[in-house]
Amino acid sequence: MPSIRFNRNRVRLKRILGIRARLALLAVILVAPLMLERARSLETTRARQIALATEEFSTVAKHSADTQREIIMSVETLLKSSAYIRASTAGIARSCDMLRASLPLNLPWIRSIMIAGQDGRVQCSTDNNIVGLDVSNRPYFRKAQDTRNFVFSDFMLARQEQKPIIMAAYPVSAITGEPDAVLLASVNLAWMSKIMSNLDGRPGISAVLVDSTGTVLAASGDESSLIGQSLDSAPLLSAIAETAMSSDRREGSISFAAADGSRRAVTFTRIADTGSRLILSIDETRVTAAIDQEIRTAYLQAGFVCLFVLLGALIAAEHFIVKPINLLAATAKRFGHGDWLARATTARLPAEFMPLAKAFNAMATKLAQRERELVEANDRLTVIASMDMLSGLANRRGFQSRLDFEWIKAQQHGGELALLMIDVDHFKLFNDTYGHPEGDACLAQLGETLSNIAAAATGFAGRYGGEEFCLLVPNAGADRALEIGEIVRAAVLELGLPHATSGHQCVTVSVGVACARPNPSLRPVDLIEAADAALYAAKHRGRNAVVAHGFIQMVEEGSDAVRAS
Ligand code: GH3
Ligand code: MG
Ligand code: MG
Repeated sequence: MPSIRFNRNRVRLKRILGIRARLALLAVILVAPLMLERARSLETTRARQIALATEEFSTVAKHSADTQREIIMSVETLLKSSAYIRASTAGIARSCDMLRASLPLNLPWIRSIMIAGQDGRVQCSTDNNIVGLDVSNRPYFRKAQDTRNFVFSDFMLARQEQKPIIMAAYPVSAITGEPDAVLLASVNLAWMSKIMSNLDGRPGISAVLVDSTGTVLAASGDESSLIGQSLDSAPLLSAIAETAMSSDRREGSISFAAADGSRRAVTFTRIADTGSRLILSIDETRVTAAIDQEIRTAYLQAGFVCLFVLLGALIAAEHFIVKPINLLAATAKRFGHGDWLARATTARLPAEFMPLAKAFNAMATKLAQRERELVEANDRLTVIASMDMLSGLANRRGFQSRLDFEWIKAQQHGGELALLMIDVDHFKLFNDTYGHPEGDACLAQLGETLSNIAAAATGFAGRYGGEEFCLLVPNAGADRALEIGEIVRAAVLELGLPHATSGHQCVTVSVGVACARPNPSLRPVDLIEAADAALYAAKHRGRNAVVAHGFIQMVEEGSDAVRAS
């Protein structure tokens, strides 16, 4: 049982893996790796693009921090030198003049320098608008007085312009050792905004600058509305706010899936000497949108190419293999059904099938030739099998089949059929007298005579057996049959073949004639028996006589031909 099932499965598998399927599979095996390789290389490019973007923005973050550090150092240097001037110059008016003169043009990020008195009131400034302003309660002012050292504030927003600034403070007491005025500088963060604006127009990239409390001080393009607000209010950035703010590291990066489903990579850099961080966020989904589209197109292309290759392979298999095979099979089938002229048309076949078609045609030609020879040989054998070689007439078998044929024909047309049974008289004595070979020669001569009579009467002559002959005459009534019987008898007598031991001194024949109109109630054998009976009567009558069987009609009295009853 298992072996039967295995064989069945094998046959089914063979059917499934027909030549079309195999070619299609081959085509896909050839094409699919190329297409998949293309898609894979795009995937690699995508990963590289993300890595490059991350690296690029990490560099931007570092660069920003470094720029900030340089600015801080330049501000520190400027404030310290101004503090020395203030300490060494008597009088506030003189100090203020020198202060205004000392604001260098090559440090555009310094918006203004001011001197705040010990009480925290701005005594003079490069920006007249803030003279008289009380900064005594500002943390950086207090811290500078307390620590007697250089102090930076957190990033803050300039009240009037809502632009991010940073305040630097250096107390004169750091030089003199006595409580004294504090030198202040407001530092512009326009450079930061410039960096931020550089990021505009780059899809999926956003940057924010936050102070130590998490307030947004500067932001790029889309995020600019966040300036002055808490980082927590920005939905995408709030997720990393805590990590970025609580981390002690100078810089770091986090990758996470945002609430909107986009994949985000975030880089944060701590700005030296301050509690602020620059946070750069990359939306991987948007950064890689173009390449993602390309990847999708590549997969789609792969699918289409595979489909076309598959269809192409199927059509090619159909046209170049299956169709020619079917053509050859159909020709072989026609040939098998006996159409010996069936030949494969080589013009419609691919070159590879030509040898097969030519071999088939050569084989078909040879087989057709052999078939013709066989048919001819068979025809000859059939003729030989129904012929009597001695008399040259049909033998009993040939006669019988002709009788059957003529019987049916007569029955169909309602015609008559006459049969003459002819027996050589005293032929035994002939043999005894002249010998067997002479007897054969006599029979041959009688056969020739009968053949001539049959031709003249449009009948059919045969040797029924031994020295007995028969003559079948279609469409002959009783009279015509008797007439022919008489012709036979007379013709044999006329031959004058010597027969010394016969009463007539020459060879004679007795003829029994029977005639019938074939119908379903009669059989051919009835006609034979009737003719036989008539022959018997002719013998009885003295031989060399013609007798017709009475079952048709009686003949005239006085004639040699009589009717048997
Ligand atoms: P009947 O007039 O009553 O017919 O007498 P018959 O001698 O002709 O008839 P019978 O049946 O007694 O003998 C027939 C003979 O025909 C016997 C046989 O030797 C001879 N014969 C039959 N066939 C052949 C043959 O092929 N060649 C020769 N030479 N003789 C044959
Ligand atoms: Mg006989
Ligand atoms: Mg005889």
